[in-house]
Amino acid sequence: MARISDLLAAGRTFSFEFSPPKSAAGSMSLGRTIAELEPLAPSFVSVTYGAGGSTREHTRDTVLWVGKETNIPPMAHLTCVGHTKAEISDIISTYAGAGIENVLALAGDAPKDPADARPSDYMYAIDLIEHLHEIGDLCIGVAAHPEGHPRSPDMATDRRHLADKLRVADFATTQFFFDIEHYVSLVNDLADLGVTKPVVPGIMPVTNIAQVERMAELSGAAFPQWLRERLESGTTAEDVRRIGVEAATELCAALLEAGAPGLHFYTLNKSTATREIYAQLGLPVA
Ligand code: FAD
Repeated sequence: MARISDLLAAGRTFSFEFSPPKSAAGSMSLGRTIAELEPLAPSFVSVTYGAGGSTREHTRDTVLWVGKETNIPPMAHLTCVGHTKAEISDIISTYAGAGIENVLALAGDAPKDPADARPSDYMYAIDLIEHLHEIGDLCIGVAAHPEGHPRSPDMATDRRHLADKLRVADFATTQFFFDIEHYVSLVNDLADLGVTKPVVPGIMPVTNIAQVERMAELSGAAFPQWLRERLESGTTAEDVRRIGVEAATELCAALLEAGAPGLHFYTLNKSTATREIYAQLGLPVA
């Protein structure tokens, strides 16, 4: 199965992120979404990993399903939170058996309910990466936070830690953001620290203001006033969706123009917004 580092070396990647379904209906719906997105010939798809114990098997099963049933290389998210080295070794060995070698190594966030907390052998994503290098020949991606990670004391410290982990990984995918300046500063700051590995921007088309507001608050991304005003100029939910897709398309076009090595879409398990952005950007569809 293709390694994402090789795909990035060969040209721009266009990729989609999904969350693992938790029910039979969710599985059917995700299967439909993936079928609708397959004609866009995604370079790879990634599957998120829950901090709570119960959703983890869903991630593994979804990653294995994509690897077996589609022509799209999957990338499995993995977190430090609540994981021992033995558990991570087990997961990696299952993936290796299925030919899956792309992983996104993340710190993860502690579960909301402390009762769900489990022991962890890792503190930071870089600790997980170190262990992954010991146990497999993997293509390793990391998370980047263009506006800084909410737990960082300041931007310079955040960038230094990001540069350190990217030095031992293959590429980064960013948290979503709405102003291109955040991405450009991130890439420039990393270059100043001597790191030029590919940083793929994460794109979140806003189709629902309240939902993105909540997600932005959790992730540390700003929800800029110019975007809020533009979205609020719509009178119906369909207007908001259309304007959100237009704004995301403009951001994608500017990012490609600025030399971004690819685009990674946060799909929220739906295909429509991503397909519309593809069409508006004039990207090829099979
Ligand atoms: P780290 O790189 O470990 O950084 C976390 C914080 O610690 C930062 O403030 C950093 O500056 C600091 N830090 C790093 N190293 C050191 C060090 N050596 N000493 C002191 N401080 C340090 N979460 C999930 O639970 N599941 C997912 O599937 C998931 N997918 C994601 C996908 C993407 C593309 C992104 C951007 C985020 C995703 N997240 C996911 C969220 C992520 O887990 C959280 O943002 C988490 O809080 C930070 O993860 P990280 O890997 O960036 O952490």
